Amino acid sequence: MDYRDGLVEAIGNTPLIKLRHASEATGCTILGKAEFLNPGQSVKDRPARQMILEAEKRGDLKPGGLVVEGTAGNTGIGLALVADARGYRTVIVIPETQSQEKKDMLRLAGATLVEVPALPYANPNNYQHVARRMADNLRKTEPNGVLFADQWNNLDNRGAHYDSTGPEIWAQTAGKVDGFICSVGTGGTLAGTSTFLRDRNADIVIGCADPRGAAMYELFAHGEAKSTEGGSITEGIGLGRVTPIIEDIHVDKAYLIEDSEAVPVVFDLLEHEGLCLGGSTGVNVAGAIRLAREMGPGHTIVTILCDPGTRYQSKLFNPDFLRSKNLPVPGWLERAIDIEI
Ligand code: PMP
Repeated sequence: MDYRDGLVEAIGNTPLIKLRHASEATGCTILGKAEFLNPGQSVKDRPARQMILEAEKRGDLKPGGLVVEGTAGNTGIGLALVADARGYRTVIVIPETQSQEKKDMLRLAGATLVEVPALPYANPNNYQHVARRMADNLRKTEPNGVLFADQWNNLDNRGAHYDSTGPEIWAQTAGKVDGFICSVGTGGTLAGTSTFLRDRNADIVIGCADPRGAAMYELFAHGEAKSTEGGSITEGIGLGRVTPIIEDIHVDKAYLIEDSEAVPVVFDLLEHEGLCLGGSTGVNVAGAIRLAREMGPGHTIVTILCDPGTRYQSKLFNPDFLRSKNLPVPGWLERAIDIEI
């Protein structure tokens, strides 16, 4: 018999998908790690699992215990599902600007949702600080332990990608991977995966694709974590400071990817590859294309397909929303919405 023993074992071992258009356009082999095929439909299932299992090992969580986290959504969905499977409850603090689809999924997964105004990290009422304070308070009364997952500082987040994403990519490419690039939310994916791949091949080129408004482009391109002016419609990415997860990593190439570059890539992936994916994937694939152009034809470059487009249907695939952000609306999207029976 060939089966995975429950949700925890069903996370990971995702396929690598060759992106035909991006590969043809660059003369490289551009491969996407299909993280949207995880049970919670995102790259964050891996750290969610690792943070909970490591907390169990340390004795921080006992049956019936509570998992608390501040999250843009995907980590919360992963945590809530793993918590369901392991017998814990979850409290998730989320900025109210995040998509309705992610909030609905969190509620479906049984999480108690605390929606807070979207405020910068420097503000004490930013969702990450609210989550930490809630965890501290709940710890006083919770008999079975409280795990504050703390994904920005928790090295188990990065460890999840060192232990699974990196080794899987190495095995799936038979070690013939020349470049790896992705965007940064917490940096767990970039730090864990790139550290593993570099341990195997010191010459691999590591890239970071950063949305407007975040600080990783300036950090990796010019050495100072300074946020670029403006913002992005992408969710789940855009780190504005150096954290323990990324402080010691080495990134060779950094690209600032505008929404006007990333969003058409999302539409291209759907229209020509049949892959319906979210905005951060657009940033990643746009970054992979830039890295491929810089490295030249013949190279194999891997990036991350983070989560499904259905998670952003009300925004990224909504013509009115796109127009309100001055982003191009593809004709087929208008037509798909307009058909009446
Ligand atoms: N894409 C999406 C949609 C995400 O939710 C996240 C995580 N917040 C990322 C990318 C980035 O992952 P990481 O936290 O590992 O940097």
